[in-house]
Amino acid sequence: MERYSRQIRFAPIGENGQKKLAESHVLIVGAGALGSSAAEMLGRSGVGKLTIIDRDYVEESNLQRQQLYAEEDAEMKWPKAAAAEKRLGQINGWIDIQSIVGEADPETLDKLAAEADLIIDGTDNFETRFIINDCAYKHGIPWIYGGCVGSFGMAYTMIPGKSPCLHCLLKRVPVQTETCETAGVIAPIVQMVAAHQTAEALKLLTGNQDAAAGQYRSFDLWHNQYISVKTDSIHDEECLTCGESPSYPFLEKENAMKTTVLCGRSTVQVRPAAPKDLNLQTMALQARKAGYEISGNPYLLSIETGENRIVVFHDGRALVHGTSDEAQAKKLYQSLIG
Ligand SMILES: [Zn+2]
Repeated sequence: MERYSRQIRFAPIGENGQKKLAESHVLIVGAGALGSSAAEMLGRSGVGKLTIIDRDYVEESNLQRQQLYAEEDAEMKWPKAAAAEKRLGQINGWIDIQSIVGEADPETLDKLAAEADLIIDGTDNFETRFIINDCAYKHGIPWIYGGCVGSFGMAYTMIPGKSPCLHCLLKRVPVQTETCETAGVIAPIVQMVAAHQTAEALKLLTGNQDAAAGQYRSFDLWHNQYISVKTDSIHDEECLTCGESPSYPFLEKENAMKTTVLCGRSTVQVRPAAPKDLNLQTMALQARKAGYEISGNPYLLSIETGENRIVVFHDGRALVHGTSDEAQAKKLYQSLIG
């Protein structure tokens, strides 16, 4: 195992830990900056299976910090999950990589979590994090929260039965929740948060649970601040996710058409009530006939309407760019897709 020799020589991991990594399955939710970085480190370290789910595609503004992607991916509007799978396959051909171009909704995540050993949070929103939180506690697998904005970042490891969950944390620790303002972000804080998340994952997967942080950590690389907060006492017995009688409220199925404003992007995601099976080629021909400029790849179709750009995926999910108005996005969606 020359490939992993330096990691095996690291005493807490050793041959035994390396074997455990090879047998592990990590679910990475979100393949943006944090997800990219964690996926690359876990892939290189020899985690046997990685499942990556992401709803977005690569854009030029991602290249400054989303390390799995190159200019070609942005030019081709390649979905992040698919581009990540392609790049990870070049990095380590010996591991199993499963990519899912789609939304991390409750139903999907519940299924994926049932097969995983650990979840890494690479999302940029609390709505998805609450779903991850419920999935992890329901299936009794650890998940590692991470977030960053500007030069500030935070990480927290949750082990069901041992650590208070995200709801308990948010009630007691003043977590700086990202806003939809475009605050910007520098690449080193991404690496710092991903480093914490990945180190924690390596500890848990190699049977070194005692080495896990057990604390909420935050850091600001620009202002040189590092804070650790003990979380032992924040557990809420009544918590609906980690309390005495959990109901996992965020796993309830959503059956209506749903619109979501994406953070700092002037983009609205529209998701149909039930997944569709669109023929994107037929749609492309129709859109061209109607005078719209189109582009795309096997995963998606991009339609320029002048004021907006709509990017449609096979399952009927669409990203409407150029607006943050959910009603307007829905109307446009209905007129183009139905
Ligand atoms: Zn809780």
